[in-house]
Amino acid sequence: MAENANVECDCMFKIVLIGDAGVGKSNILARFTRNEFCMEFRPNIGFEFASMMLQVEGKMVKVQIWDTAGQERSRAVTSAYYRGVVGALLVYDITRRETFDNIQRWLRQLRDRADSNIVIMLAGNKCDLNHVRAVQREEGEALANVEGLLFLETSALDATNIERAFQAILTQINHIKRLRAL
Ligand code: GDP
Repeated sequence: MAENANVECDCMFKIVLIGDAGVGKSNILARFTRNEFCMEFRPNIGFEFASMMLQVEGKMVKVQIWDTAGQERSRAVTSAYYRGVVGALLVYDITRRETFDNIQRWLRQLRDRADSNIVIMLAGNKCDLNHVRAVQREEGEALANVEGLLFLETSALDATNIERAFQAILTQINHIKRLRAL
């Protein structure tokens, strides 16, 4: 069957947002799904997700994007969060060095609990705050290269690379799925 934008895929891609509290996960999700941004830091309880249909390489696919919504503050994200995950946006804040230093720990958790084929994008968020940057772009790139991750700097505030980050994850997931089907 020819691929076209009206064809629904029967699969569902689950993507999680992960990283320290305050790095901008909820706002990345709000920017991507509702084109909204909130200046206040309002840590939530429990976790939330957004479901939507997105076009990936000409096909409509169901996507669920999960936000930890505060679970990470207790440093104990539940196993259910990682169940069935095919993609992750691993976020640090370019203005807070410790959030970058903690990336290795989140990465270990992801790799321990999620499928080995998971597609991971490392995102240096808040790139609109370049004047108070504490992590250089090259450091993010280098870590991503060593760990085999995709990499972008993003801003939920001005929407830089938010859509691009999710599209890149979804495209790579799609490629892996296609290869697996061969
Ligand atoms: P979470 O705990 O990782 O979900 O972080 P939030 O999305 O709640 O964001 C924490 C704080 O960072 C809030 O005050 C947001 O307004 C702010 N924030 C989030 N993303 C950005 C961004 O891209 N740029 C700037 N300047 N602030 C951001």
